Amino acid sequence: MPSTLKRICLLGSTGSIGRKTLQVVRDHPDRFKIVGLSAYRSSDELETQVREFQPDAACLVEDKSKPAPGEANGSNGDGGATRRFRGAAGLLDLIEDCSPDLIVIAIVGAAALLPTLRAIESGATVALANKEVLVTAGSLIMAKARKRNAKILPIDSEHNAIFQCLDGRSDIALRRVILTGSGGPFRGWSRSEMQRATLQDALKHPTWSMGRKITIDSATLMNKGFEVIEGLHLFGLAVDRFEVVIHPQSIVHSMVEFVDGSIIAQLGVTDMYFPIAHVLSYPERLENSRFDPLDLTAVGNLSFEPYDPEAFPCLGYGYEAARKGGTYPAALNAANEVAVQKFLDGELRFVEVPEVIDSVLQSHESVPDPDLEEIQAADAWARQKASSLTFSRT
Ligand code: NAD
Ligand code: MG
Repeated sequence: MPSTLKRICLLGSTGSIGRKTLQVVRDHPDRFKIVGLSAYRSSDELETQVREFQPDAACLVEDKSKPAPGEANGSNGDGGATRRFRGAAGLLDLIEDCSPDLIVIAIVGAAALLPTLRAIESGATVALANKEVLVTAGSLIMAKARKRNAKILPIDSEHNAIFQCLDGRSDIALRRVILTGSGGPFRGWSRSEMQRATLQDALKHPTWSMGRKITIDSATLMNKGFEVIEGLHLFGLAVDRFEVVIHPQSIVHSMVEFVDGSIIAQLGVTDMYFPIAHVLSYPERLENSRFDPLDLTAVGNLSFEPYDPEAFPCLGYGYEAARKGGTYPAALNAANEVAVQKFLDGELRFVEVPEVIDSVLQSHESVPDPDLEEIQAADAWARQKASSLTFSRT
């Protein structure tokens, strides 16, 4: 029935999470209506999505690209009467304009920070895939959410798993959160073997299909370090409650242990379709007809092993930044964004990514309890510092 349609604004609709979200919506036209879409520079794909979903509003963030069809006269050719926005400021206007019930934040990187804050202010439920914003400004975001009484629902598979294990309660006697990770393409490689890791190797994730940036973060295990910080903000727990365990099959998406020793785990098919469908329909559940049920006998073994801190220093940097607090996590994220981009562009070797991060963190002068401006200043400083670092080629 149209009156029960949940109105969804999807920021970052052309990415891996964005496309998957549209797949969920496509599968349940009786439940969801896309009212807002945004992309950075994939204007052709955005136009295709606009024609299919006929949202109330759409935004292309990069100003340089060619005008969208029909944009000059305020319509969009054969895309109906979709209202058009441009630029980073347009993204914030889009949120206001399409009055959604739920906003999916599927933009990559700290660029999602202001849109996330605006989404919280809008009063809509925020379905958060992006983790960099919680790393950069987790305290600020959670404080704003508490003040506005806004719901933040995690899409990241580990945090979605923890959320499901806790069943929406935050007053439970928890002892530990056990975050699982596949270990990425370099699982089992020693620190010295890692010297020959290439971009091609790093982009071959063994179990998940994701955007390029998070695929590299998964190869360095920076992604797990970010997930520790993401988790402590989302669930209001101290950093030392988080333990990371390598689980190569990516079937157990994470676990919680209570003070009495009971452990509850969430399991499922390795596809982001599931956590996305869960948060879109929360607190209800949708019937899954797209995937076969998980066949545990076909999976055979579920195994768990420790990670190698020597070979994967980035996870340690995540813990370190979380313990130090202040603007360290913002500097960590910004340094990583620059280093990963340089690695993707062929300007850094894989093993130099942690070296850049370490060097930036070592020279960072952290500000305690930072406000938004101080966080943005730390982010800008770390980007500048990371960009200026050069490595001698041997
Ligand atoms: P992606 O690179 O595939 O897509 C990113 C999207 O953001 C695109 O639509 C792009 O147009 C848009 N975008 C990029 N830069 C932008 C900017 N400066 N301003 C506005 N929009 C911009 O990334 P992804 O893999 O879909 O990941 C999205 C977020 O979700 C990341 O923060 C990632 O860590 C998180 N996440 C992803 C997965 C996954 O399976 N892909 C799993 C867990 C968490
Ligand atoms: Mg994850």
